[in-house]
Amino acid sequence: MQRDCIYGRNSLTRRAALTGINFAVAETGEFVVCTNEGNADMGAHLADVHIACMGIEKLVPLKKHLGVFLRLLTRSATGQPITTYSSHFKKPRPGKEMHIVLVDNGRSVHLGRKEFRNSLKCIRCAACFNTCPVYRRSGGHSYHTAVAGPIGSILAPNLDREKYGDLPFASTLCGSCSNVCPVKIDIHEQLYKWRQVLVQSGHAPLAKKAAMKTMTWVLSNPSVYHGAGKMGRWFMLNAPFTVNNGMNPWYKQRDMPPVPKQSFGEWYKKNKK
Ligand code: SF4
Repeated sequence: MQRDCIYGRNSLTRRAALTGINFAVAETGEFVVCTNEGNADMGAHLADVHIACMGIEKLVPLKKHLGVFLRLLTRSATGQPITTYSSHFKKPRPGKEMHIVLVDNGRSVHLGRKEFRNSLKCIRCAACFNTCPVYRRSGGHSYHTAVAGPIGSILAPNLDREKYGDLPFASTLCGSCSNVCPVKIDIHEQLYKWRQVLVQSGHAPLAKKAAMKTMTWVLSNPSVYHGAGKMGRWFMLNAPFTVNNGMNPWYKQRDMPPVPKQSFGEWYKKNKK
């Protein structure tokens, strides 16, 4: 029975534990793993082999810098003064093994892109997630990538433009993310930049390209613009089912706003003195 019990002796003596690394210090050769639950510590201290995976951007030069980053991380993430467990590892325990895996996974390429390299400063506090009006309503899985939120939308297209080319467009560009970021990443500006790069490299979704071309034509021709407004209002008032149907993603979860009988331009013409 004890064999299957998650608290049994066997599960407390697992052979290998895999953890991440929040920061590594070049001066001392140590690395730090931060958790609030102690889960990483439990694994690392019970297993014979500790395998720690570190993104290559996690290195800070000196120990005195570590204190700054540890405080920034928790204050921006959960508002705590310090993470519950900030465990420092320097070498394996006697008779045990420790392996550090340095993960590049597109980071070097990202470093070579002048406009985007600043995003490698990210300490994954998630403050930009918490403030983002899109993330707050859509949640993590809608980003279909490991790192969600505004910063994920910058990092993911670097890995695969085809698969993640939609993410930089899923933003209001309100700038709240850049405002709260403790390491001052210009997040909304990079999202805007990604849009330009993706369109220029032909990775914008087809529907978006067609919609943008149509909008360019409508918005640059005043008579077409006024005509389209009139037509839209007529359909919404007289044949609302042409707009309020299952093909309209906005209508699926919301009521459409009431339609005015006239445009602001028409109202203004009538009422100006
Ligand atoms: S981009 Fe800034 S705010 Fe967002 S997770 Fe990274 S450090 Fe935190």
